[in-house]
Formats: sequence, structure tokens, C-alpha cells
Amino acid sequence: MNFTVLSKCLESPEKVIEFCQSNNLIANQQMCKRCHYICILVTRTRIKDKYSWRCTNKKCRLWVSLKTGTIFAQSNLEIGRILKLIYLWSHGVASELTVQHECSISSPSTITDWKNFLREVCRKYFKKNRRQIGGPGHTVELGEILFNRSKYNRNNSNKVVRPLWVLGGYDLQDEQGFLVPVPNLSPEALLPIIKKYVLPGSTVVSDSWKTFNKLGEGYRHLALKNRLDFIEPPQNSTEGGGKMKKTKLDHVEMMWKEATQKNKKECAASKYLLETYLWEFMWRQQFRADPFLAIMQQISDLYPCQSQILQPSSSL
Ligand SMILES: [Zn+2]
Repeated sequence: MNFTVLSKCLESPEKVIEFCQSNNLIANQQMCKRCHYICILVTRTRIKDKYSWRCTNKKCRLWVSLKTGTIFAQSNLEIGRILKLIYLWSHGVASELTVQHECSISSPSTITDWKNFLREVCRKYFKKNRRQIGGPGHTVELGEILFNRSKYNRNNSNKVVRPLWVLGGYDLQDEQGFLVPVPNLSPEALLPIIKKYVLPGSTVVSDSWKTFNKLGEGYRHLALKNRLDFIEPPQNSTEGGGKMKKTKLDHVEMMWKEATQKNKKECAASKYLLETYLWEFMWRQQFRADPFLAIMQQISDLYPCQSQILQPSSSL
């Protein structure tokens, strides 16, 4: 789906509702919280989304917001605009001016809030679905990054900002990787994280870490004195296919730059924010084929719309 097609899908309030219902973002049915009768969608011109739920019980007639029980509940924006924002974010449109213009949103803080929400979706996705790279026949480059956060915290000179270490791994065959903050570079800190993210059977390459020799059975470690010397094994090397090629071991650093370059200040502000940008980067690597479809699916999995608003029936 491209942006023009999406815009057509959202060109009227009815179409917005239909789109949301087909993507499980708005329920097909609501139940009145006061009398438990069925609510139906009724036009209501005074409100931005033009529709509200209304109780069908003639003695009750309670209005319930269209956004109740949905991810849109806390937002004053029209739902169609939010969907456009989600589309542009999923396709990596970073320009705030473009997002403001295409979605008709004037408030930068509103855009920031939604971007924070979407990075939270990435975090929750990876919490449920562990990121793992490598495996038999795969070569995984490992490397460390020292993030000197104080460089980006100069305005707050009284605050001591400790540097952060980040461990990165990159599968040379699948072209997928991970980046994760680590407390230090001791084998005790790194080995469990490597085993969590790198599948057994991988050939692990790094420049000089002694740590990786301790990975033990299931991993083959090539320690290199010079990153430029590494000869990348061919794809499907276990089957003898492909050609050897010389490569430079800098994928981890390239991933780091891509993940953080536009948001260094935010990443320096807190470890949590840094992690959310790393999750966003990994999410983009994994879902580059159809990012909008992926994020919509993940939002509806994580925040299923509530089809009923039930409250204790003692008052009935
Ligand atoms: Zn009612």
C-alpha cells in the first residue's frame, strides 16, 4: 500500500471507521457500560471523527466515544490523521515538516508522542519475539561501541553522565543485526547476551576480544588482529557454493550510526530512550518489506480493541 492508496482509504469518516475495523483497531460492536444494551454507530457532526457509539436502549441513550477502548483514546487528533502519521513513521519519513504537512498536524509534541508510542510497540514486539541472528553456515560480526553521552549533555554540566557500552552483532548472510546496551565488557556481562542473540552453529568474528573464545561449544570464533583482513565466507558456505570475498568489519559501527545519528541527544538523555531507538532500528531492519502492514498487525496484537465495556451490574 502506498500513501496515495492509504489516503483514498481514509477520505471519509465512514471509510476511516471501516479501515480501522478491518484492522482490528476499532471494535465492530460496543456494549453500553450503563445498561449493557448494544451500542450502534451514529453520526455526530459536532465531534472531529463525526461518529459516536450510542446505546440502543431508549431509556438510556448513553453516548460512548468512538475512541473508547482503542489506541486513539488519549488523542484529540482525528483518527485518519493518526493513521497517516503511523504510515509515514513506518516508512521511515523522518522530516517533521513532511509529517506535519501530510497529516495536517501542527503540534510537534503530538508527533513526538506518537513516535514514542510506536517505538514502544517495537519494544513490546521484541520482548515477545526474541531477536536472534546467525546459525549454522552463518558468520556473525561482533563489535562494541562506546557511547560518550556527556558530549551531548553539555547544557547540563552539573550532571555526571556515564558513558554507555553497546554490543552489536551483524549476520553477514542475512544482513540483519542487533544492538544492545551492556553494563561492561566483561565475559560475565557479554556471554549471556551473545548466547541470547546469536544462534549456536554461527561463526563469530571479532577483532581482538578474548571473551569470545569463552563462548564454548556451538560457536566458532575467528579473532582478527586487523578488521580489514577478514575474508567473508560465501553464502551457503556449508554447501561449498558462492565465492570468498574480502570485507571490512565495520557493520556494527554502521548499524550504530544509522540507529542513532538523527537522535543522538535523545539517546544520550537516558538509557531507556537509547534502547527504544535501537529497537526501532532493529524493527526497521526486520520489516522493511511491508512496514505499515507489520506495525498495524503488531498494534492490533498488542492493543486489541475492546468490544465490550462491562462494568459491575449491581446497579441494574
Ligand atoms: Zn445504555
